[in-house]
Amino acid sequence: MSAAHFLSRAGWRVTVYDSGVVASGATGSADGAVSVASKKPGPLMTLAVAAVRFYEHLAETGVLVDEFISRSTFMIASQSDELDVLESQSAQLEAAGVPVRLLKGQSLAETVGAAAPSALAAVEVQGEGHAVGYRVVERLRRLGGFTIRRHCRIVGLRQSGGSVSGVVTEQGVEPADAVLLAAGLGSMDFLAGSGLIRPRKGQLIVTDRAGRDTPRFPGPLMSCRYLVSKGSHPAGKLPESRSLGLVVDPLRTGQFLIGGSREDRDDKDTADADTVASLLRDAVALSPSLARLRVIRVFAGVRAATRDGMPIVGRVGGADNVWVATGFEGDGICLGPLMGHLCQQMICGRPADQDISALGADRFGLKLADAA
Ligand SMILES: Cc1cc2nc3c(=O)[nH]c(=O)nc-3n(C[C@H](O)[C@H](O)[C@H](O)COP(=O)(O)OP(=O)(O)OC[C@H]3O[C@@H](n4cnc5c(N)ncnc54)[C@H](O)[C@@H]3O)c2cc1C
Repeated sequence: MSAAHFLSRAGWRVTVYDSGVVASGATGSADGAVSVASKKPGPLMTLAVAAVRFYEHLAETGVLVDEFISRSTFMIASQSDELDVLESQSAQLEAAGVPVRLLKGQSLAETVGAAAPSALAAVEVQGEGHAVGYRVVERLRRLGGFTIRRHCRIVGLRQSGGSVSGVVTEQGVEPADAVLLAAGLGSMDFLAGSGLIRPRKGQLIVTDRAGRDTPRFPGPLMSCRYLVSKGSHPAGKLPESRSLGLVVDPLRTGQFLIGGSREDRDDKDTADADTVASLLRDAVALSPSLARLRVIRVFAGVRAATRDGMPIVGRVGGADNVWVATGFEGDGICLGPLMGHLCQQMICGRPADQDISALGADRFGLKLADAA
């Protein structure tokens, strides 16, 4: 949707085909952390810094006004073995130009003490934000300028002489001068490369609104174990736990979103009591006041996780007019608008504002399935 927005502004006639409705995939079942704090150091962290600035720009210029909330993220170490992770991620963020503030002693007590009394140390990562994925999509849809075809699955690409000349949908063939495969997990149906992207389920919990006796949360609290579970940071002395990581996110509504799991399976329809109970136990251990709230909803979504943990954005081999933007795993709400803009630049043959060579489809030799 973001690429459709920017391509239409660049003068293209754009059609978005979705086998369901837009935002019915991972985008509609995510937390909305527009955050550098959790990113793997290196190109992903650098791009996330640019992505947060891009959200700010879109909010200032009216495109995403009221949809992007600026705030800090608080990385929390509540056990001594998490202190190394905190220190090292904080150093990496600082090196990437992100303003961070170490909280210990009195500053810790004043800032996160009420929300997380067991915290040993914390780092405030400043200049981050939050945006709800489906609301961003809805805003772009309302701004218009492109056509959306709902319940219109693409089942193939028509090729002739090294180019794609049209998309084959369940309702017929439609001509196309250029194609961007931005179908999450579904993108791989058109590409040769089995096992490159795997489904990674996440379960999230929503509480009811905070009561008068709930302490003020200064922003989302992210446990250092979350960084390890996300693969952003090596486990080091921490027990390797790729399945659960804790973020307690105070929402605009006064509710809390508690997440999340990382499970290697493709199932967005169920939540299981064991995972939910574990997440709640961890959340209450960090923030005991949460025990007074009720859980009103649990939901799941499925992320598209690549083999090397980096998205795939770039031109696809086997045709000169097909691009791909997928594999955003747990980072697509943050990166989405910027990636849409960069895809527009690529497709228009303009130099990209950011270096995205590390995300290129060529690193896996990705080709159109029929050209393989
Ligand atoms: C539990 C959870 C929490 C998350 N939290 C965050 C977060 O806090 N911050 C963050 O930055 N990211 C987060 N993410 C990640 C983020 O949601 C995703 O990276 C992002 O939404 C991916 O967007 P996408 O457009 O690539 O894929 P999707 O949103 O999955 O969209 C793909 C679309 O393609 C359509 N499609 C598939 N196949 C076809 C086909 N053949 N023809 C036509 N249409 C097709 C689908 O219907 C779908 O609408 C989270 C994800 C989950 C699951």
